[in-house]
Amino acid sequence: MVSRVLLQGKRATGVRATIDGVEADFDAAREVVLCGGAFNSPQLLELSGIGRRDVLAAAGVPLQHELPMVGENLSEHVYSPMMFRAKPEVSWNAQLSSPLRQAALGARWLLKRDGPLSTVTITAQAFAPAQAGGKDAELKIQVQQVTSPGNRGAGKIVLDDFPGITVASFQIRPRSRGHSHIANTDPKADPVMVSNHFTHPDDLQACLLALKMSRRVAAAGPMARLIEEEVRPGPKAASDEALTAYLRATGATAYHPVGTCRIGTDAVQSVVDPQLRVHGIQGLRVADCSVMPTIAATNTNAIAIVIGERAADFIAQAD
Ligand SMILES: Cc1cc2nc3c(=O)[nH]c(=O)nc-3n(C[C@H](O)[C@H](O)[C@H](O)COP(=O)(O)OP(=O)(O)OC[C@H]3O[C@@H](n4cnc5c(N)ncnc54)[C@H](O)[C@@H]3O)c2cc1C
Repeated sequence: MVSRVLLQGKRATGVRATIDGVEADFDAAREVVLCGGAFNSPQLLELSGIGRRDVLAAAGVPLQHELPMVGENLSEHVYSPMMFRAKPEVSWNAQLSSPLRQAALGARWLLKRDGPLSTVTITAQAFAPAQAGGKDAELKIQVQQVTSPGNRGAGKIVLDDFPGITVASFQIRPRSRGHSHIANTDPKADPVMVSNHFTHPDDLQACLLALKMSRRVAAAGPMARLIEEEVRPGPKAASDEALTAYLRATGATAYHPVGTCRIGTDAVQSVVDPQLRVHGIQGLRVADCSVMPTIAATNTNAIAIVIGERAADFIAQAD
Protein backbone atom coordinates (compact mmCIF):
# COMPACT_ATOMS: atom_id res chain seq x y z
CA MET A 1 0.00 0.00 0.00
CA VAL A 2 1.37 3.36 -1.03
CA SER A 3 1.38 5.93 1.77
CA ARG A 4 2.79 8.99 0.03
CA VAL A 5 4.63 10.42 -2.94
CA LEU A 6 8.29 11.26 -2.28
CA LEU A 7 9.21 14.80 -3.25
CA GLN A 8 12.45 16.64 -3.70
CA GLY A 9 11.35 20.25 -3.82
CA LYS A 10 8.75 20.40 -6.59
CA ARG A 11 9.75 17.10 -8.22
CA ALA A 12 8.24 13.68 -7.49
CA THR A 13 11.01 11.12 -7.15
CA GLY A 14 9.18 7.99 -6.03
CA VAL A 15 6.71 6.59 -3.52
CA ARG A 16 6.74 5.22 0.01
CA ALA A 17 4.88 1.93 0.29
CA THR A 18 4.34 -0.93 2.71
CA ILE A 19 4.58 -4.41 1.24
CA ASP A 20 4.03 -7.47 3.46
CA GLY A 21 4.37 -5.27 6.52
CA VAL A 22 7.68 -3.77 5.40
CA GLU A 23 7.82 -0.08 4.58
CA ALA A 24 10.20 0.95 1.82
CA ASP A 25 10.87 3.85 -0.52
CA PHE A 26 10.76 3.20 -4.25
CA ASP A 27 12.52 5.51 -6.70
CA ALA A 28 10.75 6.29 -9.95
CA ALA A 29 12.86 5.61 -13.03
CA ARG A 30 10.99 8.33 -14.92
CA GLU A 31 7.87 9.57 -13.20
CA VAL A 32 5.19 8.69 -10.66
CA VAL A 33 1.66 7.95 -11.89
CA LEU A 34 -1.09 7.91 -9.26
CA CYS A 35 -4.08 5.73 -10.11
CA GLY A 36 -5.74 5.22 -6.74
CA GLY A 37 -9.21 6.24 -7.93
CA ALA A 38 -11.40 9.21 -7.07
CA PHE A 39 -10.94 8.86 -3.31
CA ASN A 40 -7.40 7.58 -2.94
CA SER A 41 -5.54 9.67 -5.53
CA PRO A 42 -6.44 12.96 -3.82
CA GLN A 43 -5.76 11.23 -0.49
CA LEU A 44 -2.22 10.35 -1.63
CA LEU A 45 -1.61 13.88 -2.89
CA GLU A 46 -2.75 15.30 0.44
CA LEU A 47 -0.70 12.82 2.48
CA SER A 48 2.27 14.04 0.40
CA GLY A 49 1.61 17.67 1.26
CA ILE A 50 -0.04 18.60 -2.06
CA GLY A 51 -3.48 20.13 -1.72
CA ARG A 52 -5.56 22.70 0.07
CA ARG A 53 -3.81 24.73 2.71
CA ASP A 54 -6.74 24.46 5.18
CA VAL A 55 -7.16 20.70 4.74
CA LEU A 56 -3.47 19.94 5.23
CA ALA A 57 -3.21 22.22 8.26
CA ALA A 58 -6.22 20.53 9.90
CA ALA A 59 -4.82 17.06 9.11
CA GLY A 60 -1.34 17.91 10.39
CA VAL A 61 0.49 17.45 7.07
CA PRO A 62 3.18 20.04 6.22
CA LEU A 63 2.25 21.92 3.05
CA GLN A 64 4.64 21.18 0.17
CA HIS A 65 2.60 22.57 -2.69
CA GLU A 66 -0.71 24.39 -2.55
CA LEU A 67 -3.33 23.14 -5.02
CA PRO A 68 -6.82 24.18 -3.92
CA MET A 69 -8.83 21.78 -6.09
CA VAL A 70 -7.29 18.56 -4.73
CA GLY A 71 -10.19 16.51 -3.33
CA GLU A 72 -12.81 19.02 -4.49
CA ASN A 73 -15.35 18.66 -7.33
CA LEU A 74 -16.45 15.17 -6.25
CA SER A 75 -19.27 14.10 -8.54
CA GLU A 76 -21.38 10.96 -8.55
CA HIS A 77 -24.63 9.58 -9.97
CA VAL A 78 -27.33 8.89 -7.39
CA TYR A 79 -28.92 5.45 -7.65
CA SER A 80 -32.64 5.47 -6.74
CA PRO A 81 -34.33 2.07 -6.74
CA MET A 82 -38.03 1.29 -6.86
CA MET A 83 -38.76 -2.32 -6.02
CA PHE A 84 -41.67 -4.50 -7.04
CA ARG A 85 -43.06 -7.91 -6.19
CA ALA A 86 -43.01 -9.70 -9.55
CA LYS A 87 -43.93 -12.94 -11.27
CA PRO A 88 -41.52 -15.64 -10.03
CA GLU A 89 -40.19 -16.37 -13.52
CA VAL A 90 -38.67 -12.89 -13.94
CA SER A 91 -36.98 -12.60 -10.54
CA TRP A 92 -33.63 -14.16 -9.68
CA ASN A 93 -33.99 -13.59 -5.92
CA ALA A 94 -34.67 -17.24 -5.12
CA GLN A 95 -32.09 -18.65 -7.54
CA LEU A 96 -29.32 -16.41 -6.26
CA SER A 97 -30.14 -16.84 -2.56
CA SER A 98 -29.99 -20.61 -2.20
CA PRO A 99 -26.59 -22.39 -2.36
CA LEU A 100 -28.23 -25.39 -4.06
CA ARG A 101 -29.79 -23.21 -6.74
CA GLN A 102 -26.56 -21.28 -7.12
CA ALA A 103 -24.83 -24.58 -7.87
CA ALA A 104 -27.53 -25.37 -10.43
CA LEU A 105 -26.95 -21.97 -12.05
CA GLY A 106 -23.23 -22.71 -12.17
CA ALA A 107 -23.88 -26.04 -13.86
CA ARG A 108 -26.27 -24.40 -16.31
CA TRP A 109 -23.68 -21.82 -17.24
CA LEU A 110 -20.98 -24.47 -17.66
CA LEU A 111 -23.16 -26.68 -19.83
CA LYS A 112 -25.22 -24.17 -21.79
CA ARG A 113 -23.45 -20.86 -21.28
CA ASP A 114 -26.73 -19.11 -20.44
CA GLY A 115 -28.90 -18.17 -17.46
CA PRO A 116 -28.30 -15.48 -14.82
CA LEU A 117 -24.57 -16.24 -14.54
CA SER A 118 -24.07 -15.40 -18.22
CA THR A 119 -25.08 -11.79 -17.64
CA VAL A 120 -25.36 -9.10 -14.96
CA THR A 121 -28.44 -8.46 -12.86
CA ILE A 122 -29.16 -5.37 -14.96
CA THR A 123 -30.89 -6.71 -18.04
CA ALA A 124 -32.36 -3.56 -19.62
CA GLN A 125 -31.39 0.11 -19.67
CA ALA A 126 -33.04 3.19 -21.16
CA PHE A 127 -31.90 6.79 -21.47
CA ALA A 128 -34.46 9.59 -21.55
CA PRO A 129 -34.72 13.39 -21.57
CA ALA A 130 -36.05 14.95 -18.37
CA GLN A 131 -38.80 16.83 -20.21
CA ALA A 132 -41.09 15.54 -22.95
CA GLY A 133 -39.63 16.58 -26.31
CA GLY A 134 -36.14 17.16 -24.87
CA LYS A 135 -33.25 16.06 -27.09
CA ASP A 136 -30.51 15.33 -24.54
CA ALA A 137 -30.69 12.32 -22.27
CA GLU A 138 -30.79 13.40 -18.62
CA LEU A 139 -32.16 10.29 -16.94
CA LYS A 140 -31.34 6.62 -17.01
CA ILE A 141 -33.67 3.79 -16.04
CA GLN A 142 -32.44 0.26 -15.54
CA VAL A 143 -34.25 -2.99 -14.80
CA GLN A 144 -32.64 -5.45 -12.40
CA GLN A 145 -34.09 -8.90 -11.85
CA VAL A 146 -33.36 -8.81 -8.12
CA THR A 147 -34.46 -6.82 -5.06
CA SER A 148 -32.81 -6.26 -1.70
CA PRO A 149 -34.06 -4.49 1.42
CA GLY A 150 -30.54 -3.27 2.18
CA ASN A 151 -30.15 -1.44 -1.14
CA ARG A 152 -26.43 -0.56 -1.33
CA GLY A 153 -25.46 -0.51 2.32
CA ALA A 154 -22.21 -1.92 3.62
CA GLY A 155 -21.76 -5.66 4.00
CA LYS A 156 -23.21 -8.67 2.24
CA ILE A 157 -26.19 -8.03 -0.02
CA VAL A 158 -29.19 -10.05 1.13
CA LEU A 159 -31.92 -10.53 -1.46
CA ASP A 160 -35.63 -10.43 -0.63
CA ASP A 161 -37.38 -13.69 0.17
CA PHE A 162 -40.10 -12.93 -2.40
CA PRO A 163 -39.77 -12.68 -6.19
CA GLY A 164 -38.85 -9.09 -6.92
CA ILE A 165 -37.48 -6.82 -9.61
CA THR A 166 -35.99 -3.35 -9.29
CA VAL A 167 -36.53 -0.42 -11.61
CA ALA A 168 -33.68 1.90 -10.68
CA SER A 169 -33.20 5.43 -11.91
CA PHE A 170 -30.32 7.88 -12.17
CA GLN A 171 -29.81 11.49 -13.08
CA ILE A 172 -26.89 11.15 -15.48
CA ARG A 173 -25.66 14.77 -15.45
CA PRO A 174 -25.76 15.77 -11.77
CA ARG A 175 -24.71 19.31 -10.87
CA SER A 176 -24.09 18.93 -7.12
CA ARG A 177 -20.44 18.69 -6.11
CA GLY A 178 -18.92 17.23 -2.98
CA HIS A 179 -15.40 16.71 -1.68
CA SER A 180 -13.12 14.05 -0.24
CA HIS A 181 -10.23 14.96 2.05
CA ILE A 182 -7.92 13.39 4.60
CA ALA A 183 -8.56 14.16 8.26
CA ASN A 184 -5.20 12.97 9.61
CA THR A 185 -1.83 11.58 8.53
CA ASP A 186 -2.84 7.90 8.62
CA PRO A 187 -2.76 6.43 5.08
CA LYS A 188 -4.98 3.55 6.24
CA ALA A 189 -7.74 5.90 7.41
CA ASP A 190 -10.56 6.50 4.96
CA PRO A 191 -10.72 10.05 3.69
CA VAL A 192 -13.79 12.00 4.75
CA MET A 193 -16.14 11.82 1.78
CA VAL A 194 -18.96 14.33 1.48
CA SER A 195 -21.14 13.70 -1.56
CA ASN A 196 -23.43 16.74 -1.23
CA HIS A 197 -26.04 14.96 -3.33
CA PHE A 198 -29.10 17.12 -4.03
CA THR A 199 -27.42 20.35 -2.93
CA HIS A 200 -28.07 21.68 -6.43
CA PRO A 201 -31.86 22.04 -6.68
CA ASP A 202 -31.94 20.72 -10.27
CA ASP A 203 -30.63 17.38 -9.05
CA LEU A 204 -33.45 16.66 -6.64
CA GLN A 205 -36.00 17.60 -9.29
CA ALA A 206 -34.33 15.38 -11.88
CA CYS A 207 -34.16 12.41 -9.51
CA LEU A 208 -37.81 12.94 -8.59
CA LEU A 209 -38.74 12.90 -12.28
CA ALA A 210 -36.67 9.77 -12.75
CA LEU A 211 -38.41 8.04 -9.85
CA LYS A 212 -41.81 8.89 -11.32
CA MET A 213 -40.63 7.64 -14.69
CA SER A 214 -39.65 4.33 -13.05
CA ARG A 215 -43.18 4.03 -11.76
CA ARG A 216 -44.63 4.77 -15.20
CA VAL A 217 -42.32 2.23 -16.84
CA ALA A 218 -43.42 -0.39 -14.31
CA ALA A 219 -47.07 0.39 -14.98
CA ALA A 220 -46.73 0.28 -18.77
CA GLY A 221 -48.00 -2.68 -20.83
CA PRO A 222 -45.22 -5.28 -20.99
CA MET A 223 -43.72 -4.53 -17.58
CA ALA A 224 -47.11 -4.30 -15.89
CA ARG A 225 -47.82 -7.89 -16.89
CA LEU A 226 -44.72 -9.04 -14.97
CA ILE A 227 -45.31 -6.98 -11.83
CA GLU A 228 -47.73 -7.70 -8.99
CA GLU A 229 -47.26 -4.71 -6.69
CA GLU A 230 -44.88 -1.90 -5.79
CA VAL A 231 -43.09 -2.74 -2.54
CA ARG A 232 -40.58 0.12 -2.09
CA PRO A 233 -41.48 2.89 -1.59
CA GLY A 234 -45.00 1.51 -2.09
CA PRO A 235 -48.15 3.13 -3.50
CA LYS A 236 -48.70 5.20 -0.34
CA ALA A 237 -45.69 7.30 -1.35
CA ALA A 238 -47.71 9.17 -3.97
CA SER A 239 -46.91 12.83 -3.29
CA ASP A 240 -43.73 14.64 -4.31
CA GLU A 241 -42.98 15.10 -0.61
CA ALA A 242 -43.20 11.37 0.07
CA LEU A 243 -41.07 10.51 -2.96
CA THR A 244 -38.51 13.14 -2.00
CA ALA A 245 -38.30 11.69 1.50
CA TYR A 246 -37.79 8.24 -0.06
CA LEU A 247 -35.07 9.62 -2.35
CA ARG A 248 -33.25 11.23 0.52
CA ALA A 249 -33.53 8.12 2.67
CA THR A 250 -32.57 5.53 0.07
CA GLY A 251 -30.67 7.32 -2.75
CA ALA A 252 -27.30 5.58 -2.88
CA THR A 253 -23.99 5.60 -4.67
CA ALA A 254 -23.92 4.43 -8.27
CA TYR A 255 -20.24 3.50 -7.67
CA HIS A 256 -19.18 6.22 -10.12
CA PRO A 257 -17.19 8.76 -8.07
CA VAL A 258 -15.11 11.11 -10.24
CA GLY A 259 -13.66 14.59 -10.43
CA THR A 260 -11.44 15.03 -7.35
CA CYS A 261 -8.23 15.73 -9.33
CA ARG A 262 -9.91 17.39 -12.27
CA ILE A 263 -8.18 18.24 -15.54
CA GLY A 264 -7.82 21.90 -16.44
CA THR A 265 -5.42 24.48 -17.68
CA ASP A 266 -4.84 26.44 -14.48
CA ALA A 267 -3.81 25.50 -10.97
CA VAL A 268 -6.65 27.36 -9.27
CA GLN A 269 -9.47 25.53 -11.01
CA SER A 270 -7.88 22.13 -11.54
CA VAL A 271 -5.31 19.61 -10.31
CA VAL A 272 -3.79 18.13 -13.47
CA ASP A 273 -3.11 19.65 -16.86
CA PRO A 274 -4.51 18.18 -20.11
CA GLN A 275 -1.60 15.71 -20.16
CA LEU A 276 -2.53 14.55 -16.65
CA ARG A 277 0.55 16.21 -15.03
CA VAL A 278 -0.03 17.62 -11.54
CA HIS A 279 0.18 21.41 -11.78
CA GLY A 280 3.43 22.71 -10.33
CA ILE A 281 5.03 19.33 -9.58
CA GLN A 282 7.39 17.70 -12.05
CA GLY A 283 7.33 13.96 -12.66
CA LEU A 284 3.85 13.35 -11.23
CA ARG A 285 0.67 12.40 -13.10
CA VAL A 286 -2.77 11.18 -12.09
CA ALA A 287 -4.49 8.66 -14.36
CA ASP A 288 -7.89 7.51 -13.12
CA CYS A 289 -11.50 8.68 -12.81
CA SER A 290 -10.47 11.49 -10.46
CA VAL A 291 -9.26 13.53 -13.45
CA MET A 292 -12.68 13.82 -15.11
CA PRO A 293 -13.67 17.49 -14.94
CA THR A 294 -17.37 16.60 -15.13
CA ILE A 295 -19.03 13.26 -14.65
CA ALA A 296 -19.78 11.29 -17.80
CA ALA A 297 -23.43 10.71 -18.61
CA THR A 298 -22.93 6.98 -18.30
CA ASN A 299 -21.06 4.31 -16.36
CA THR A 300 -17.44 5.16 -15.76
CA ASN A 301 -15.36 2.02 -16.25
CA ALA A 302 -14.72 2.32 -19.99
CA ILE A 303 -13.68 5.93 -19.48
CA ALA A 304 -11.23 4.90 -16.74
CA ILE A 305 -9.64 2.53 -19.25
CA VAL A 306 -9.40 5.26 -21.89
CA ILE A 307 -7.80 7.62 -19.35
CA GLY A 308 -5.18 4.93 -18.73
CA GLU A 309 -4.59 4.56 -22.47
CA ARG A 310 -4.20 8.31 -22.89
CA ALA A 311 -1.79 8.43 -19.94
CA ALA A 312 0.32 5.75 -21.62
CA ASP A 313 0.39 7.83 -24.82
CA PHE A 314 1.44 10.97 -22.94
CA ILE A 315 4.21 9.14 -21.08
CA ALA A 316 5.49 7.53 -24.30
CA GLN A 317 5.41 10.88 -26.10
CA ALA A 318 7.35 12.49 -23.24
CA ASP A 319 10.40 10.30 -24.01
C1 LIG B 1 -19.45 -2.40 -7.09
C2 LIG B 1 -19.09 -1.61 -8.34
C3 LIG B 1 -19.74 -1.87 -9.52
C4 LIG B 1 -19.44 -1.15 -10.67
N1 LIG B 1 -20.07 -1.45 -11.84
C5 LIG B 1 -19.73 -0.80 -12.96
C6 LIG B 1 -20.32 -1.15 -14.20
O1 LIG B 1 -21.14 -2.05 -14.29
N2 LIG B 1 -19.94 -0.45 -15.31
C7 LIG B 1 -19.04 0.57 -15.25
O2 LIG B 1 -18.75 1.18 -16.29
N3 LIG B 1 -18.47 0.93 -14.09
C8 LIG B 1 -18.79 0.26 -12.95
N4 LIG B 1 -18.20 0.60 -11.77
C9 LIG B 1 -17.29 1.77 -11.75
C10 LIG B 1 -15.89 1.41 -12.20
O3 LIG B 1 -15.47 0.22 -11.56
C11 LIG B 1 -14.98 2.58 -11.84
O4 LIG B 1 -15.42 3.76 -12.48
C12 LIG B 1 -13.54 2.33 -12.25
O5 LIG B 1 -13.04 1.11 -11.73
C13 LIG B 1 -12.69 3.46 -11.73
O6 LIG B 1 -11.37 3.24 -12.13
P1 LIG B 1 -10.18 3.99 -11.43
O7 LIG B 1 -8.95 3.53 -12.09
O8 LIG B 1 -10.48 5.44 -11.36
O9 LIG B 1 -10.19 3.50 -9.90
P2 LIG B 1 -10.22 2.03 -9.28
O10 LIG B 1 -10.72 1.03 -10.26
O11 LIG B 1 -10.94 2.18 -7.97
O12 LIG B 1 -8.69 1.70 -9.04
C14 LIG B 1 -7.96 2.24 -7.98
C15 LIG B 1 -6.98 1.20 -7.51
O13 LIG B 1 -6.02 1.80 -6.65
C16 LIG B 1 -5.82 0.97 -5.54
N5 LIG B 1 -5.36 1.82 -4.44
C17 LIG B 1 -6.03 2.83 -3.84
N6 LIG B 1 -5.26 3.40 -2.90
C18 LIG B 1 -4.08 2.76 -2.92
C19 LIG B 1 -2.88 2.90 -2.16
N7 LIG B 1 -2.75 3.82 -1.20
N8 LIG B 1 -1.84 2.05 -2.43
C20 LIG B 1 -1.96 1.11 -3.40
N9 LIG B 1 -3.09 0.93 -4.15
C21 LIG B 1 -4.12 1.75 -3.90
C22 LIG B 1 -7.18 0.35 -5.28
O14 LIG B 1 -7.06 -0.83 -4.52
C23 LIG B 1 -7.65 0.09 -6.71
O15 LIG B 1 -7.18 -1.14 -7.18
C24 LIG B 1 -18.47 -0.12 -10.61
C25 LIG B 1 -17.79 0.14 -9.41
C26 LIG B 1 -18.09 -0.61 -8.28
C27 LIG B 1 -17.34 -0.32 -6.99
